[in-house]
Amino acid sequence: MAAVSGGIHDDDSPGRPPRGAGSSTGHPDKGGILVCRPGCGACCIAPSITSPIPGMPKGKPAGVRCVQLTADLRCTLFGRPERPVVCTSLKPSIGMCGRSAEEALSILAALETATSEDS
Ligand code: SF4
Repeated sequence: MAAVSGGIHDDDSPGRPPRGAGSSTGHPDKGGILVCRPGCGACCIAPSITSPIPGMPKGKPAGVRCVQLTADLRCTLFGRPERPVVCTSLKPSIGMCGRSAEEALSILAALETATSEDS
């Protein structure tokens, strides 16, 4: 996806856990607003990111785990200015995130392929 570029959720409100966190049900929601599911991180792995990331100055290829994604699937840059804008702007949605992390990876990989410049 010529760069879904990045991360989900830009809600830095206190108590909102970084990347991959949210309700445990696959993320429905909080008053109608979709939140990230715990232990997902699909959007930090499947899509390409063209903007520089600390530790990945040329961005991130599709299917490659971001170096800023921790073992427990959290972003080390959450809330920090170094976090790519694209990561803060991406919002979770059923269409992108599906009903499980596996489904999210699959959807995001398909989107990446469909929107890549080579396709
Ligand atoms: S910088 Fe953070 S939010 Fe963006 S892809 Fe890497 S781990 Fe995910």
